[in-house]
Amino acid sequence: MACNHAFNCPLYQVFGSKPSLQVWTTWYCEGRYQHCARHALGECGQKVPAHLLPNGRSLDVAPEAAHA
Ligand code: SF4
Repeated sequence: MACNHAFNCPLYQVFGSKPSLQVWTTWYCEGRYQHCARHALGECGQKVPAHLLPNGRSLDVAPEAAHA
């Protein structure tokens, strides 16, 4: 079962766009999404920072830039 935030998660789109990033999708979005820091905040109704990675670290560039 996949993460129920995938339809509106900007990082899901980014991860799916590059083969080198799809490990994130495989590991979190379509697997252990319960362990994703973004998922946890979303489930609590809290704002999810754009740069927050599933492992709790921050992306070095804006998600839009990573998508380019
Ligand atoms: S698991 Fe995390 S990164 Fe993946 S779609 Fe859900 S909230 Fe987004």
